Amino acid sequence: MRFNTRILHCEKKSESITGATNIPIYQSSSFEHKSAKELESIFHGREFGFVYTRIGNPTVEAFEKRINCLENGIGALACASGMSAVTLAIMNITRCGDEIVCGRGIFGGTYSLLKNLEDYGITTKFADDSAIGSFEKCITDKTRLIFIETIGNPKLDVPDIKKISGLAHSRNIPLIVDSTVTTPYLARPVELGADIVVHSTSKYINGSGNSIGGIIIDSGNFKWDYNKYLSLKEYERFGPFAYLARLRKGIFKDFGACISPFNAYLNMLGLETLALRMDKICSNAMKLALRLKQNPRVEKVNYPGLKDSEYYPIAFEQFDNRFGGILTIRTGSKEKAYSVINNLKYALNLANIGDVRTLVIHPASTIYAENTLEEKEKMGVYEDLIRISLGLEDAEDIIEDFEEALSV
Ligand SMILES: *Cc1c(COP(=O)(O)O)cnc(C)c1O
Repeated sequence: MRFNTRILHCEKKSESITGATNIPIYQSSSFEHKSAKELESIFHGREFGFVYTRIGNPTVEAFEKRINCLENGIGALACASGMSAVTLAIMNITRCGDEIVCGRGIFGGTYSLLKNLEDYGITTKFADDSAIGSFEKCITDKTRLIFIETIGNPKLDVPDIKKISGLAHSRNIPLIVDSTVTTPYLARPVELGADIVVHSTSKYINGSGNSIGGIIIDSGNFKWDYNKYLSLKEYERFGPFAYLARLRKGIFKDFGACISPFNAYLNMLGLETLALRMDKICSNAMKLALRLKQNPRVEKVNYPGLKDSEYYPIAFEQFDNRFGGILTIRTGSKEKAYSVINNLKYALNLANIGDVRTLVIHPASTIYAENTLEEKEKMGVYEDLIRISLGLEDAEDIIEDFEEALSV
């Protein structure tokens, strides 16, 4: 089965009773059982069944199965948001005294999380750049995981997933990859060696900007050393499912960051048209990047699909000649960046990516406002930078919109 067919048919037997083609929204907090014995068995994991929506729900499960199928995992767990997915994926295998190694170009929320985790004794070392040596330098015997994004947002750096997973595995640590920006359509991190994949499904998977969600997928490939990953020790009997079992029965249940069945439904609905939208979005991004590159009012266009980008070769290889829907431009000054944003007719000024509409934001004064100048520059955030997330409009209209706004 190829990608689009898989999206639609890999978990089809949803509603065999009524024949409904869409899975119902099981808007129920809890689930009744025939006997006390049955509920006991479910509680103890001897029998399958739903108990309480914070732990599991049939609509949410259908969403998990579909994403898991696309990512080639052994199981997935949907969460309230992308941030809760990132948080739980990390905290499932770290404890006080442990270290994380992280790529440089990461989402502002994840950066903030990693800083907050310092209060719990979990510290992060950031690689200087995406070179393999920069990651290697940060690894110590306390490192418990490497975390990267497929395309750093908004730095748009593209780490070599195969090489970094090779490094991680040679040190017996897992690689966690946030693939939000590439989606399962552009990248299959598991095939490139990632052990755990996370997504904010609020973005391209949902696609219309109508609900928040996140998901964690386990490849099942990592061989956990239970004396090193102590939090998984009591789940050793689950074998390759130990990571997922600890999530579901442990911190996911206890942190309570479950997704609502309604949001899972909306994310699943968006997923069905993912490939169609991503093709158009990537094509729009490429067209806009090429045109803005010729515009003398733009000092720099940053897009991994441009042949002179240092990340072009690796992006070409990893993402099958598609380069995502996000680009950034430098306009020369903060004033100019503000003027461009204020003069755009179609592109909306807001803090999101992956909508059907084209979106812009001035990252330095918003998402990264609390970071120091040095931190911002390391993450590729400059005062004159605008981040653009392409939507589904006609490319010519969006190009005109930017050309006119730049000429004011
Ligand atoms: C948005 C985003 C997140 C956080 O997701 P939410 O659904 O907003 O919590 C994490 N990683 C990346 C790369 C993102 O773009």
